Amino acid sequence: MMDIPFWSREIETAERSRIEQIQLERLRDTIGWALKTNLYRRRLTQVGIGSPDDVKSLADLRRIPFTTKDDLRVSFPKGHLAVGMTDVIRVHSSSGTTGIPTVIYYARQDLDNWTDLLARSIVATGATSSDIFQNMMTYGLFTGGLGLHYGAERVGLTVIPIGGGNTKRQIQVMKDFQTTVVHVTPSYLLHIHSKLGEEGIELKDLALRKAFIGAEPHSENTRRKLQDLMRIDAYNSYGLSELNGPGVAFECVCKKDMHVWEDAFIVEIIDPQTGEVLPDGQEGEVVLTNVVRRATPILRYRTRDLAFLHPQGCDCGRTHRRLSRILGRTDDMLIINGVNVFPSQIEEKIMKIPEVATNYQIHVDKKGALDRLTVKVEIYPKLFLGEVSKLEALKHRIVEELKASITISPGVELHEPGSLPVYEGKAKRVVDERPKD
Ligand code: ADP
Ligand code: ZN
Repeated sequence: MMDIPFWSREIETAERSRIEQIQLERLRDTIGWALKTNLYRRRLTQVGIGSPDDVKSLADLRRIPFTTKDDLRVSFPKGHLAVGMTDVIRVHSSSGTTGIPTVIYYARQDLDNWTDLLARSIVATGATSSDIFQNMMTYGLFTGGLGLHYGAERVGLTVIPIGGGNTKRQIQVMKDFQTTVVHVTPSYLLHIHSKLGEEGIELKDLALRKAFIGAEPHSENTRRKLQDLMRIDAYNSYGLSELNGPGVAFECVCKKDMHVWEDAFIVEIIDPQTGEVLPDGQEGEVVLTNVVRRATPILRYRTRDLAFLHPQGCDCGRTHRRLSRILGRTDDMLIINGVNVFPSQIEEKIMKIPEVATNYQIHVDKKGALDRLTVKVEIYPKLFLGEVSKLEALKHRIVEELKASITISPGVELHEPGSLPVYEGKAKRVVDERPKD
């Protein structure tokens, strides 16, 4: 058995009953703060919760209505704020992937708690104070940059706050400082790999051994590809700005899905259609309540992310349940001539085909009355110069692989490496040019 590192061993390995006791205490406290906000005051009193004492058990959580992204947009800018601005020491907002961004406020203890969860997450991956940490996530309103930054400082890693973008410089800095850990979106790390050669850098010039990858959906095959190409361990990291940012759930050294830090978050999986809470093991929408939030308490937030909880524990000894990788967002499902297709299904298939390089795009448009799905993939240069018949055979193979998974037959285009658009932060994989009606 490998040596398992912990940041807060006692709480990370606490028995279920202890975790639930902490959740209940903290939920009550959070209700007290939520009752101070315009967003929650009426909602809570309407269901008979007028004070923290009205929450007798964790089951009472289910009486509280869900909070949606739209609720937070409607309460823009301060309808969900529970403290005065004097007590707010930072503001972040979401990336706005799906519309107007939402804003979140942090009191001093919010930042302190968040930082601690990230310290815990970083240590869970086996990173230590001897690591050199290059944080390639965007700094600024986006939570990915500063969140990990302070967590890594708390653990004592050497932080290089380089931020997103400028691939040439990222590679140079990785070499010059002998970076051992990066925090990055999986799509951007794949891009960096494709550029190493151009910069005259080989893997042996680098000291990289770990990557924290997150902020966008990716499949197990993408993780494997990244690990093989870069010869590293890649750890999945999940979070969203509405619930602090990164540090909601993180993989441990076992790399078998992400521990949700249950002393800080109550996690539920619901049927997105009916709102019914589903048992562990069943896939549905992730709903999160942050029970240590002061400035902007958020109750039963519908993330729109689809995943399931593992019913069993983990080899590392942590008792906090593990969340599967995000299988899709309820709002990223494409309907192609009536057939439901998740971009993640496509990614999973193409990323296991060895000839496929590091970038792809899903394109949808209309031809006459019909929807047309085209998957554009970059392939390795050696192949691109190959015989036409081989390219045709490869294309055919990709179509067949995809058809087996999504049931419809997409068009496939093979592209030269470097020809499809690159994103330095979250990748935009789907281009949907169908007219909106
Ligand atoms: P936005 O909702 O505007 O993208 P955020 O920047 O807060 O705003 O991003 C949070 C979202 O990013 C999550 O709800 C999820 O859809 C996605 N995400 C974050 N981490 C991961 C991950 N590890 N795997 C898949 N998706 C992720
Ligand atoms: Zn574990």
